[in-house]
Amino acid sequence: MPYLGVLGRDTLKINARALCRSVRLSRTRAPPIYDRVIEIESMDQILKLQWAKPRGGGLKIGVNADRRRAVMQHSQLSDGRDPFDRRAFCKAAVATAVGAVEASLGSVLAHADLTKEQRDKMTADEIIQQMKAGNERFRSGKPQHRDLMREAKATAKGQYPAAIVFGCVDSRAPAELILDFGIGDIFSGRVAGNVADEDILGSMEFACKVTGSKVVLVMGHTACGAIKGAIDGVQLGNLTTLLAKIRPAIEATHYTGERSAKNYTFVDAVARKNVSLTIASIREKSPVLRDLESSGSIKIAGSMYNLETGIVEFLA
Ligand SMILES: [Zn+2]
Repeated sequence: MPYLGVLGRDTLKINARALCRSVRLSRTRAPPIYDRVIEIESMDQILKLQWAKPRGGGLKIGVNADRRRAVMQHSQLSDGRDPFDRRAFCKAAVATAVGAVEASLGSVLAHADLTKEQRDKMTADEIIQQMKAGNERFRSGKPQHRDLMREAKATAKGQYPAAIVFGCVDSRAPAELILDFGIGDIFSGRVAGNVADEDILGSMEFACKVTGSKVVLVMGHTACGAIKGAIDGVQLGNLTTLLAKIRPAIEATHYTGERSAKNYTFVDAVARKNVSLTIASIREKSPVLRDLESSGSIKIAGSMYNLETGIVEFLA
């Protein structure tokens, strides 16, 4: 597999001419110091790269057959010698650029600051695939490198999030991190025990009907304190009313073992049931979302996040 050395800016601004120009520049000026040298497994992967801001402007990119050669090529460039066939390099670079531009939109979400056009081209299923891929990156300890301030600036004038994730307030279950999304990629709603009231439904309607998000993902999690509190019948201020909304899930959970908050298997079974009841209540209480779903414009899906394994399991 080829390796790609990169010093550049936004992927989507890459074009073949810029690549060839960068080759010429790299021979006559100071050699590029690549921010990263990355093995390319597929053209899709190019879109997943996080591009650093150019130093002194321009885009510099190098493609070679292996990492060792890429590094050698880099050092030889500093001698002013041409260590490789420039025409072949240009050809490879152009092919890479075309591949990047034509690559499946399935990987666009992995790249921050989604444009409206990119988001609108994606189907709900593709967005869910990207959630799974993001969780995989999170679990493997290889999340996208992100320049968050750059993402903040790029999205300051508009947002086109692909989805709204509705989860628990639990500090260990932040949707953006565990699904590896950047600023502007998703809406994130959180309430203890992920029970949806009308304000949350209104937020989901805003996300999908007004701004065009295509997925509503309800995310429960293991060892949820709110679920445990509901099982124990905790009474405390406004929490009492909130936990009462989880009671139907407890009652609807078929479980023959010990039905207590100390039994985590039971707690997780209730959390799972609670996700499905939340989805049912979204469909029941929001005609707006129900219509969007039945017309195929959006998907409403459920998931469970496992605190110990980091796995987000998508429920059927
Ligand atoms: Zn929780």
